Amino acid sequence: MTAQIIDGKAFAATVRDKVAGHVARLKENHGITPGLAVVLVGEDPASQVYVRSKGKQTVEVGMNSFEHKLEIDTSEGDLLALIEKLNADPAVHGILVQLPLPGHLDEDLVINAIDPAKDVDGFHISNVGLLGTGQKSMVPCTPLGCLMMLRDHHGSLSGLNAVVIGRSNIVGKPMAQLLLGDSCTVTIAHSRTKDIQEVCRRADIVVAAVGRREMVTGDWIKPGATVIDVGINRIDAPEKGEGKTRLVGDCDYGSCAEVAGAITPVPGGVGPMTIACLLANTLTACCRANALEEPEGLTA
Ligand code: NDP
Repeated sequence: MTAQIIDGKAFAATVRDKVAGHVARLKENHGITPGLAVVLVGEDPASQVYVRSKGKQTVEVGMNSFEHKLEIDTSEGDLLALIEKLNADPAVHGILVQLPLPGHLDEDLVINAIDPAKDVDGFHISNVGLLGTGQKSMVPCTPLGCLMMLRDHHGSLSGLNAVVIGRSNIVGKPMAQLLLGDSCTVTIAHSRTKDIQEVCRRADIVVAAVGRREMVTGDWIKPGATVIDVGINRIDAPEKGEGKTRLVGDCDYGSCAEVAGAITPVPGGVGPMTIACLLANTLTACCRANALEEPEGLTA
């Protein structure tokens, strides 16, 4: 069997189109423009690339983008004061603090200072609790993107066996909650899981969020299963020239694609969906803030 490729790049474009259409209607019918504020502390090169890309796509869908770039030695007090200002600003519907933060800043404290209604990353403790109890919340962008692709591919996920590899707060745990919310039978695997290959081989859906290059190989996969590869690992690519690199996932694409029914590639799978879902969350937050109907199909 050769797996069907789940094209996250194309899917993300349809999500952005939906968001842009809704934003245009919000402007025309209500005079409201959704706004996303992104806060970057320091000059981490990868974070700078993400923030640039987020800002560009925010503007492309017709939203306002507010970028706040702070010095690496910014004090916790100054950062919290900025968040308080953004919380109170009616033009700002979503606030994202780019992680990781420099070591002297307490990430939990900073994230929990964001108004939960504006917490478009879905990391605030209130949103974590709401998601865990099946209530309306802001849902973390990467797992939301995975869920959208799975729903699109399978229709109903009810009764399917899902294995999520990884138990981080930003991917693994919320992913498991979302799959449970869609009535999957969910197993969370991690570094202490015994017979992890065997656990994965029982799954109709495998979501890999580990951070280890090409760890999941085809012999871990049940024939016909769906593989969602969240991993982003940069490796040397001497075949492309000296000093060149390329991205690979947590799944060995070649061997998994031979067995799976469907698979997301890296790059071009989960990655593009993450920013698309950030835009979707900002739109959702804006609709909720203004007591307007939320767009369909853009949240859990
Ligand atoms: P974390 O490092 O926070 O978590 C990794 C998880 O993998 C942990 O729960 C860890 O288990 C588990 N793990 C580590 N080694 C093994 C192993 N040998 N067997 C089984 N489980 C293992 O990573 P994140 O969740 O933040 O990210 C995971 C991957 O997803 C990374 O490659 C990251 O770059 C990528 N990512 C991609 C995004 C996107 O937009 N596409 C967004 C966010 C992340 P334990 O808890 O026991 O230590």
